[in-house]
Amino acid sequence: MVIAPPGQPVSQVGNVAGISQEAWATIVAAGGGPRTKIGPFDRVHVFWLAGMSCDGCSIAVLGATTPSVESLLTGSLPAIPLVFLHHTAVQLEAGAAYMEPMWRAWRGELGDPYVIVYEGSLADESLAAGSGGYWSAVGEEEVDGRLRQVPSAEWVRRLAPGAAAVIAIGTCATWGGIPAAFGNVTGSMGMMDFLGKDYRSALGLPVVNIPGCSPVGDNFTETVAAVLLFLQGVGPLPEFDELGRPAWLFGETVHRNCTRAGYYEEGTFAEAYGDKECLVEIGCWGPVVNCNITSRGAINHVGGCMNVGGVCIGCTMPGFPDRFAPFYKKPPGSTFSATGAKLTGLFIRPLRRVSERDRDRTARWDRAGEVPSGWGAPPRPTFVDRLIHVGYDWIRHSGTAAKDR
Ligand code: SF4
Repeated sequence: MVIAPPGQPVSQVGNVAGISQEAWATIVAAGGGPRTKIGPFDRVHVFWLAGMSCDGCSIAVLGATTPSVESLLTGSLPAIPLVFLHHTAVQLEAGAAYMEPMWRAWRGELGDPYVIVYEGSLADESLAAGSGGYWSAVGEEEVDGRLRQVPSAEWVRRLAPGAAAVIAIGTCATWGGIPAAFGNVTGSMGMMDFLGKDYRSALGLPVVNIPGCSPVGDNFTETVAAVLLFLQGVGPLPEFDELGRPAWLFGETVHRNCTRAGYYEEGTFAEAYGDKECLVEIGCWGPVVNCNITSRGAINHVGGCMNVGGVCIGCTMPGFPDRFAPFYKKPPGSTFSATGAKLTGLFIRPLRRVSERDRDRTARWDRAGEVPSGWGAPPRPTFVDRLIHVGYDWIRHSGTAAKDR
C-alpha cells in the first residue's frame, strides 16, 4: 500500500520532482526502453537505506575503483550527473538535517530525481511492532504525541514509487541472504519479494539486483554508472538477466574464469587449504555459481575468493546460504565431475609434459646437444618424447606449407 506524506494525496506520490506529468507518462509507457530520452539531470540523490545488514556492502563499495565512489560523488565522470549520497555512516549531517531530504522526496519536493539503494534484508516489521519494537529503522516521526522510529522497510514503501531506480545491493537485499536462512525469525526477505514482481520504478525499471556477500564494489559502482548514463539519455538500458542482475557481470560461472580452473581440467585437486590446486574437493561450489570475483578480484582487481585460497560458498546465489551448507563439505556433484577429470587427466597430463619439455628448448640447443644455462640442467626430451613428437609434428604440419617443403 502506498502511504502519502501528510497533506499530499496518494495520486501524487510516485513523481520524480522536476519531471512533468506528460514526460512522466511517456517514460513509464516506454517501459524505460533503450535510449529513452530521460535526462539530462545535473544531479541525482541516492538514498542508501540499511535493513538487516552487517554494513559489509558499504565497506565493499567504498573500496570500488572502476569507477570509484569519489568520482561519482564529485561528478568527475563524463556525462554522469553529480551524485548526492545520503548514507548514515558517511554523511556529516545527523538527526533532522539528515532526514530532511527523505521527507522532501516523499512529499515530491526534492527537485531532483533520486535512486534508492538498499543494503540488508527487509524484515517483517509487523513481527517486531507486535512487541513495540522494530528490526531496523532510520529517523523518527511523531504519532499520537509519541515519537516512533520509522522502519527502513517503511521508507522503501514510501519512496520506491517515486524512485528513478531501486537497487538492491548484497545478497541479503537481493535474495534475503543470511537473515532469511533456515529459521528466519525476523521474516526477512529480499527487495523483489518485498516490492513484488509488478513493481516498476518511476522510470519503468524493475528492481536491480547486485548480489554478493559482500558484493564486488566495482560491480555496484559500474552498474550505477551504467544506469545513470541511461537515465541521462546518453546510454542504452544496461542488459539485466531475468533476476535483475547485470548480465555482463553475472552471466558466467565463477569456475570458468578461475585461476585454478586449469588444475581442475587436468584432474589435480587440493587436499587441504593452502594447496595451489583446484579447491572443489574441499568444498568449492564455483562450477555452479554465477559470479565474476575470480576475474574481477575483490578490490582494484586484486584478491577474490579462490584467487587467495578460499572456496566458493555460493554467496551470490538466491539459494545461499541453505543450499550450499555445510560449507566444510564438498559439493556431492563434484564426486562425478572430479572423478571424470582425474581419469582424463591420467592421459592428458603426461602428454602435455612431453610437449612442454619439447617446447622449452630452442632448435640451436637441440643441434648443440646442450643448454648453455648456468642456472641448471633443464630436463632433456627422452627417446620416447622424440618418438611421440615425430608423429605429433607430422600432424601439426599436415596440410601446411611447412609440410610441403
Ligand atoms: Fe572451479 Fe572452485 Fe576449482 Fe576454481 S577452485 S577451478 S572455481 S572448482
